[in-house]
Amino acid sequence: MMRPPSLFPLFAEISTLKGVGPKLAPLVARAAGPLVRDLAFLSPSGLILRSEATVRSALDGELVILDLVIDQHLPPQRRGQPWRIRAHDDTGFVNLVWFKGFGEHLERAHPPGAERVASGRLERFGVEAQIAHPDHLMAADRKGQIARSEAVYPGVTGLAPRVLSRLALEALSRAPALEEWQDPDWLARRGWPGWRDALEALHHPETTANLSPDTDAAQRLAFDELLAHHLAMVQRKARRRAEPTPPIRRADLARRVEADLPFRLTGAQVRTLGEIRDDLASGERMSRLVQGDVGSGKTVVAMLAVAELAAAGRQTALMAPTEILARQHFESMAEPLEKAGIRTVLLTGRDKGAQRQDKLAALADGSAGLVVGTHALFQDEVRFHRLGLAVIDEQHRFGVAERRRLMAKGEAVHLIALSATPIPRTLELTLFGDLDVSRIDEKPPGRQPVVTTATPLTRVDSVIRRLAEVTATGAQAFWICPLVAESEFLDVQAAEGRAADLTERLTARVGLIHGKMPAADKDRVMAEFAAGDIAVLVATTVVEVGVNVPNATIMVIEHAERFGLAQLHQLRGRVGRGAGKSACVLLYAPPLSATAKARMEILRQTEDGFEIAERDLTLRGGGDLMGLKQSGLPNYRFADPLAHAELVRAAADDARLVLARDPDLTSERGRRLRVLCELFDWRADDAFAEAS
Ligand code: ADP
Ligand code: MG
Repeated sequence: MMRPPSLFPLFAEISTLKGVGPKLAPLVARAAGPLVRDLAFLSPSGLILRSEATVRSALDGELVILDLVIDQHLPPQRRGQPWRIRAHDDTGFVNLVWFKGFGEHLERAHPPGAERVASGRLERFGVEAQIAHPDHLMAADRKGQIARSEAVYPGVTGLAPRVLSRLALEALSRAPALEEWQDPDWLARRGWPGWRDALEALHHPETTANLSPDTDAAQRLAFDELLAHHLAMVQRKARRRAEPTPPIRRADLARRVEADLPFRLTGAQVRTLGEIRDDLASGERMSRLVQGDVGSGKTVVAMLAVAELAAAGRQTALMAPTEILARQHFESMAEPLEKAGIRTVLLTGRDKGAQRQDKLAALADGSAGLVVGTHALFQDEVRFHRLGLAVIDEQHRFGVAERRRLMAKGEAVHLIALSATPIPRTLELTLFGDLDVSRIDEKPPGRQPVVTTATPLTRVDSVIRRLAEVTATGAQAFWICPLVAESEFLDVQAAEGRAADLTERLTARVGLIHGKMPAADKDRVMAEFAAGDIAVLVATTVVEVGVNVPNATIMVIEHAERFGLAQLHQLRGRVGRGAGKSACVLLYAPPLSATAKARMEILRQTEDGFEIAERDLTLRGGGDLMGLKQSGLPNYRFADPLAHAELVRAAADDARLVLARDPDLTSERGRRLRVLCELFDWRADDAFAEAS
């Protein structure tokens, strides 16, 4: 849609604002964004309250408005001295001081005897009262112009707060009144103001309570933003669905593969598979995210979906973020699928020459039903006879463009995305509103619990001695090294140091893996560990989430207090995957903060990723949720998916209802809603977290 002219003033560049030249523009852009809209949407982070006072009644440090009479100007006597104006009211004297020379100008504007109103922070030094750099000094009759309360914005260095405030208000003044896009009944029920009034209230807080996300104005703006986002997601989902595709009915072939599994599916797997089969049978394109802890059995479910597709003569591409993961998937799937007559090939960057040509031919002529691979699958030479399904493992590791390229290799290709990062329910809609979500929230039976202990780093020697004993009997261990803030280089150093230390003290072989290593080296070390040639693998946090090394039974996490809860859970999930007893040692540097203590306690209590994710959320109450940033929580301006959880649900429902009646937003309300979407840049075709 073309941007409606009513929005032009907001979509003008910030340089169109008064006083924003080439020097100021980049600073303002950094604080808010490149457009007038961005400034108008900048939420205050604080508030200045000024009270009327007298020189005597003002408290030290208080922001006051004073009625004064100018007595005299005291120019600096030496360099470095300020310019001072001595002034008084009925109760005492006050010095107004400037450390930067506005002297002559001040003298002309405020001659002795003049009645003035001044405001600023009053400070007391013994009997002297002073205001340094008053915010206002002007004719007494202009007192009404001094705001009793004033918003303060999150600024950037080099940009004076006063300037930013002034610009935000000027941007606000450019915001036009727009036709109401929300349902009037809903607004009335909530008692919310109109959009323009809400924006006005946002910029004019009168008390700190006005800064809360719960005010009517804040909720209104948040709901607008959420609705715009959900409209985009629901529209995109609907468009994807609308692409017709032949229904795929349950096939005997797939039943056979399932019956041949050496185990029975868990209830959660059965449910998820049922959801997938319903999608496939619907004749609409599927976009489904399967969430579940590492080891919960996602891969098996994906494999059975592959069999359904193959029975219908359609191929599947399974894409993994690394070669080692691709290889593992291939190894677990090839045999059961081949037994059912479904040819499976592995395609990675390593395939060269005739072997590669052979595999490519099998995909192009349709004789291969499944290809498992890495980024190599995107390449143009990879062509399919009839690609019907893309399975994307660790979906957050791939970009939108990459997924698109894969999906474009067939028509109306179904999508199954796998994720081992459990997302709390509260955030599911926000993150995956354009996907259908299945949760595998049950582990296969027979898993041994991972015994989790917290041990202070002062006892690291005894941990190493114990490690020496168990590795001598063939056990394998991960040793995760501290996360050092902002420096991968330091991470690597710490890991190298620990590896050298362990090499010296253990007879078993110690390996090292870290993010700075070339991918091929990483894969090689991982493969050696998986093969049992390395007993202890020292690693920074790069270890692949999905890597399956059933023999590894010990996880040591050094400086566990530096990791988030979700991350600790992910790390721990790499052990306890075989039949052997497993242990996780959380080595921490005392003293522990209350939050760190709570995290470790939660880990000791449960291994359920979904529960941990929920508890993580309450523990932190938002902020930088581990695993969520990387999952792409949107950068909302007004909405906070946690503080506004109820509004998220309402917006998702509303978006669904609106689009069910008016899929292309062509009704009167639809037209207004399109303006809303434009306002927030949420459009069906480029909203975030695009799944295909
Ligand atoms: P994920 O992909 O979720 O990490 P996988 O599908 O790779 O999990 O399963 C992990 C391991 O558990 C595999 O060895 C798999 O064969 C096994 N497994 C999966 N489902 C079951 C089940 N229902 N019962 C027993 N073992 C299972
Ligand atoms: Mg997996």
